[in-house]
Amino acid sequence: MGTLFKNGTIITASDMVKADMLVEGSTISVIGRDINPEGHEVVDCTGKYLMPGGIDVHTHLELPFGGTVSNDDFDTGHKAAAFGGTTAHIDFVIQPKGGSLHDGLNTWRKKASVAQIDYGFHLAVTDLRPEVLDEIPSLVQEGVTSLKLFMAYKNVFQVDDATLFKTMEVAAKHGMIVMVHAENGDVEASLTPRLLAEGKTAPYDHYLSRPREIEGEATNRATVMSGMTGCPLYVVHVTCEPAVQAIQRGRAAGIPVMGESCTQYFFLTAKKHLGAPGFEGAKYICSPPIRTEHDHGVLWQAIRDGSLQHVSTDHCNFWFEGGKGPWQDWMQKYNGGNWVEYEAQDPSYRRPGKELGKGNFAKIPNGMPGLEERMMVMWEHGVNKGRLSPQKFVELMCTNPAKIFGMYPKKGTLSVGADADIVVWDPNHKHVLSVETTHMRTDYIVYEGMEVTGKPVKVYQRGIKLVDGEQWLGHNGGGQFIHRHPNAPVL
Ligand SMILES: [Zn+2]
Repeated sequence: MGTLFKNGTIITASDMVKADMLVEGSTISVIGRDINPEGHEVVDCTGKYLMPGGIDVHTHLELPFGGTVSNDDFDTGHKAAAFGGTTAHIDFVIQPKGGSLHDGLNTWRKKASVAQIDYGFHLAVTDLRPEVLDEIPSLVQEGVTSLKLFMAYKNVFQVDDATLFKTMEVAAKHGMIVMVHAENGDVEASLTPRLLAEGKTAPYDHYLSRPREIEGEATNRATVMSGMTGCPLYVVHVTCEPAVQAIQRGRAAGIPVMGESCTQYFFLTAKKHLGAPGFEGAKYICSPPIRTEHDHGVLWQAIRDGSLQHVSTDHCNFWFEGGKGPWQDWMQKYNGGNWVEYEAQDPSYRRPGKELGKGNFAKIPNGMPGLEERMMVMWEHGVNKGRLSPQKFVELMCTNPAKIFGMYPKKGTLSVGADADIVVWDPNHKHVLSVETTHMRTDYIVYEGMEVTGKPVKVYQRGIKLVDGEQWLGHNGGGQFIHRHPNAPVL
């Protein structure tokens, strides 16, 4: 007995056709007209679209950062993702300073033991000692085919150019892809203390510490190295015109450079959101910062014309008002414990959040929630507003990330033999996004009050139903690690 999705409209990156789809076991077995329903469970999809499960290749679940830990973990983050139509993501493993890449990998594997949806790992290299360079090729056997390097966050994650260059040489040799956070961290580290000394400490001043030029410069620098080493490069969270132009110049010259932007960079502006009264702007702090309406237009054009290939979230959420509860007492009592453990004992407690940076923007934990809303927000403002065809939407949200990161065609499309990761999308479902109805672990969302038409009403992973309306049917440990393959195509 299988599950038969009947009378729906199947959308892939190339087609939009009315057809039935049969799932047997964990994969799609038949796509065709008038499939005989006998012996199968029938899901009536009249008036609905069937899309591949969304893929988000940029998330930070349970990330220790900025003196605290990001809120959503592989349990809460996964549920929220699936309610929003995302069934697979790739999270960033951080190599501990002084430790090995596998030390980081082991830590993240423990976090993922509660996984509800499928996940992969990128490895963020923070400390490239000679033995770590030698360790890189072994990651491929583990199904980890992408490395990330930070050109920003000086004295935290930032690597120098020699590290970036050498990593690219090794990655190229082993069919891996290198990702960069492209901002010139040295310039940022010069601007920030100057601003603070001038009394410019508010959330908006974070924006002044990270001008678009330093993003454009770093993007260009990494692109040049990609050209010299032949290593495929993927620039994460591209926000602005100078960075898009650097990628376009590289691509025009035949350099294997690709990139993504994230949902928030299409909607939020520094002026309105970071410049909101009081400390409100802290909600929207991320790096690189949100920019201007002009940059929004540049990004829409860049995803339309293929200069950028994916829209992810960089989901890394912190309480706006965290730090509530008697944690100071507890930290004293349990020296060496952590907030995550404490919350398990007292769920009413909130770990520290954005309030850490009151009076000093440099101490505001960077990041915001968005994992759940990505598909709905981009559908509303992409497809419903006529900027993207439904096929282009699927290409950006599902297919391209699967191809670039070595998961295709198992993930990222609806075809015979593919994993039955299926979103049943109701294109007529009108609703208003709100923190009141989100599944993310957060006390705010950045699209509060946005009206959207189109929503996942049923979500399946490998043939198993995870979401049915407001009902959650998945379970901890149900999500599987995605073993990705090297030598993925450059799009
Ligand atoms: Zn990130």
